[in-house]
Amino acid sequence: MQVLLGATLIDGTGAPPRPDSAVIIDGDRIAAAGPRSSASWPAAAEVVDLDGLKLIPGLIDTHDHLASHSYALARRWGLEEPASTTHLRTGRVLEQTLAMGYTTVRDAGGLDAGFRLAVEEGLLNGPRLSLGLKIISPTGGIGDSISPSGHSCWLPADPALPDSVANGVGRIREVVRLMVRAGADAIKCATTGGASSRPGHGPKDPAFTREEMRALVEESHELGRKVMCHALGGPGLRRAIEAGVDSIEHGCYLAEEPELLAMMAERGTFFTPTLLVYVYHRESASPHVRGRARDLYVRHLESVQKAREAGVKIAAGTDAGGHGHPVNARELECLVEAGMSPMDALRAATGLAAECLGWEREVGTIERGRLADLVAVDGDPLRDIRILQEAERIRLVWKGGVVRVDRRVAREVAAEH
Ligand SMILES: [Zn+2]
Repeated sequence: MQVLLGATLIDGTGAPPRPDSAVIIDGDRIAAAGPRSSASWPAAAEVVDLDGLKLIPGLIDTHDHLASHSYALARRWGLEEPASTTHLRTGRVLEQTLAMGYTTVRDAGGLDAGFRLAVEEGLLNGPRLSLGLKIISPTGGIGDSISPSGHSCWLPADPALPDSVANGVGRIREVVRLMVRAGADAIKCATTGGASSRPGHGPKDPAFTREEMRALVEESHELGRKVMCHALGGPGLRRAIEAGVDSIEHGCYLAEEPELLAMMAERGTFFTPTLLVYVYHRESASPHVRGRARDLYVRHLESVQKAREAGVKIAAGTDAGGHGHPVNARELECLVEAGMSPMDALRAATGLAAECLGWEREVGTIERGRLADLVAVDGDPLRDIRILQEAERIRLVWKGGVVRVDRRVAREVAAEH
């Protein structure tokens, strides 16, 4: 049993900070969290003095691409180095991401279930993983690998990352089942192009018909998987929301659709704006990417504001990978710039992010019964959210009650075993 004493508790529920707290960890779970004055513990418990620090839930990124290391085509297609080298590179990113206080990450495509297994077995000191495996789209959609020359990627299919191009309701149901068979925790799909998609398939160009999206959502829910849908604007955005996806990823043009925002609020559909990736795309070397990202910028900020006014729940996701690792907490700075309070931004990366994943009974808040995923921070993120980007301020990270990162003595605890 561990007793974390004296920190100011910011519990991820949105409740006001509680100074001089006691959090009691029994095994891998939180046994109690509250004021020190009303806490009691056995004499044999290990007491950890956190006086002067803030204690927050382990952070959650609801949209990452941990196995992605660049937007350059050769890198994206895995042509530049042996797969083993890339896997080791990815493993290092997992460790660095955890070291920044991110104890849970949902991967929106590219990471196979072997990484989840490696983390669970303790081969890697990484975050808990919820995996989307690969982006499901029709031919010509963003899940269809095609180069500017018109060439497809003819690499042999990887059984750990099944082919995700699907046309027609029958094939869509099959691909959802293939993803689940390969270990998907969530189903990732795309109903529009994006900033970096090929010319001719932009942010408002649709992919999938109404019937196809209904089948995708129905099959995913039948198998107990939430659907995270890349959708920026136009008819594809509408189809995704009407079909009942669980979260809209990017949603840059939602501000133009008050009716859809009302529908999202009513149904509890999450909005993960991933503002950070567009900061990168605005400086892209490709003129069409740069142009799209600059066009949508103002609308995107407005979409976050309108979504909040409409009561839509917002989750923090970075779409990291192509634009670098592990600066996940920069998304919280972007959310604050878009008008959210630091407390709301923190909730978007803790309690609400857990709910977005469907893991709210396990992680995301510091409450009795939750897994003990915690971060002791030196400094006040409610005063300046940017401090979460500074490694030296992420003093201690617990995952499942075990200290995984300890910067009090400037060393990282190796994975268990
Ligand atoms: Zn993404």
